[in-house]
Amino acid sequence: MKKWLALFTSVSCMLAAGCRKSAPAVTLGDLYHTPLGEVWVYPVGHGSVMLSWNGKTIQIDPYSQVADYTQLPKADLLLITHDHHDHLDPAAWKKTLKPSTHIIAAAKAAAQMDGVTPQVLNNAETASWEGINIQAVPAYNLKHKRPDGQFFHPQGEGNGYILSFGDFRLYIAGDTENIPQMANWAGVDVAFLPKNLPYTMTDEMFVDAAKRLKPKHLYPYHYQQADKTALQQAIGPGIQIH
Ligand code: ZN
Ligand code: ZN
Repeated sequence: MKKWLALFTSVSCMLAAGCRKSAPAVTLGDLYHTPLGEVWVYPVGHGSVMLSWNGKTIQIDPYSQVADYTQLPKADLLLITHDHHDHLDPAAWKKTLKPSTHIIAAAKAAAQMDGVTPQVLNNAETASWEGINIQAVPAYNLKHKRPDGQFFHPQGEGNGYILSFGDFRLYIAGDTENIPQMANWAGVDVAFLPKNLPYTMTDEMFVDAAKRLKPKHLYPYHYQQADKTALQQAIGPGIQIH
């Protein structure tokens, strides 16, 4: 089940022309019903996602280039996938903090977060927060490398996260390609999959990942350009692209 809602007032500043010129018009969240209550899902932009659940806010990879985080709700839970500047941005994540914020990050990212003590999760490790199960899963390149021959995202350095609200599963892939492990969590309810070159997936990789993963609702993110109509046609029915 899904419906649309205008952003609540605390983020309406993002919509106001002139409030912050570089902020995009993030206007809509999607509502999902889970065994643990309603979850609002807000694609903030690029690799940043915000969830609102039972009055709590989960900020994932906040990035100052896509939103003014002084205008967004503080995080009860902050998730960081990896240490690249568009995912671990001190100008953004520091603005999401309040004294009670719980932080979960991949080890290499956690080591670069000064003044806080994140809970470190490595691939395949899990944590429990407020009754939500959080599983760190692999996120890495199979193909795309830097000129020096190193992968942009070596296996083991970064995390994707699967958040389970009871049996409702929401997957934030982080920066990854269409890795075979995605078949292990096929059938997730909601998935965010990255697209853009050279760091993550081509359209073909994205379509392959979607078919491997079979999410009910699929959000392309982290892209510069995405032809969602063409992607939907290539992926076929049964997976709704947002
Ligand atoms: Zn990255
Ligand atoms: Zn990235």
